[in-house]
Amino acid sequence: MKIYVDGEFYEKDEAKVSVFDHGVLYGDGIFEGIRAYNGRVFRLGEHLKRLEESAQAIFLTLPIPLRKIEEALLETVRQNGLRDAYIRLVVTRGVGDLGLDMRKCKKNAGLIIIADKIELYPESYYEKGLDIITSSIRQRGTDQLAPNIKSLNYLANILARAEATRAGAQEAILLNQQGYVSECSGDNIFYVYEGRIYTPPVYAGILEGVTRSAIIDIVREKMNGQVIEKLSTLFELYRADEVFLTGTGAEVIAGVKIDGHVIGSGSAGPITRKLVALFREYARLTGTLIYEEAKASK
Ligand SMILES: *Cc1c(COP(=O)(O)O)cnc(C)c1O
Repeated sequence: MKIYVDGEFYEKDEAKVSVFDHGVLYGDGIFEGIRAYNGRVFRLGEHLKRLEESAQAIFLTLPIPLRKIEEALLETVRQNGLRDAYIRLVVTRGVGDLGLDMRKCKKNAGLIIIADKIELYPESYYEKGLDIITSSIRQRGTDQLAPNIKSLNYLANILARAEATRAGAQEAILLNQQGYVSECSGDNIFYVYEGRIYTPPVYAGILEGVTRSAIIDIVREKMNGQVIEKLSTLFELYRADEVFLTGTGAEVIAGVKIDGHVIGSGSAGPITRKLVALFREYARLTGTLIYEEAKASK
């Protein structure tokens, strides 16, 4: 495996960062999780835009321009000979001293790109769906560290996920400060009720998922429908006919039990199945080509 760190490629065991990097010391940095399907990087422009907006929000100057980051990312996938990949793009604050002062991080921000394969859930989970609980951890308010920033500071999400694991479930819902549903530990949430598809709005305090916006587009363009963005309560999830989660890692996956309440038939419902299929088809056919030959042969 070849890993990109600050402009060079390293073997897995050789890819390292400084113990003084504020990404390590303070979780000071941002990241993107991106997928490639069938030789194409899915919605790369959207991921890079979000990276840029997250950087701007935390006063982080990207070490190289966005176009160069895009080139480095595509080159990392090529170096690993992958056509289907999970790509992790990390930008850390860089090497500083032990204090909090970001001005002490003299060296440029650190840039790490890892291209690998992951299967977040075994295929059987896409059939049978996930068991989900409500976490005791609340989503931070939009007046705190904005949930829109995809920051390396992921401890709340990790603890929420661990809470799910301890309860024998696979995912956890975070309620926002007002008690409305925001999202899951690493995925956005949707539900279907009486034929309509709903999802919490951005102002509920969510990370605006690229997969979430792809699903909103697919519903509009391929199903002639509309996703309704609406503040939602746990009650609305409990009585839903279908619940599904979206995220780059998980893709589109059903939630079939929430806090012990069986959702719909107790397995992935018809709209969820349809969206899983449409998403997979769409992901294979769109996106930034990784290998030039692919372009030339078209
Ligand atoms: C990354 C992430 C998501 C999903 O976003 P995608 O762009 O679809 O991968 C949802 N919630 C949180 C907290 C995330 O970090």
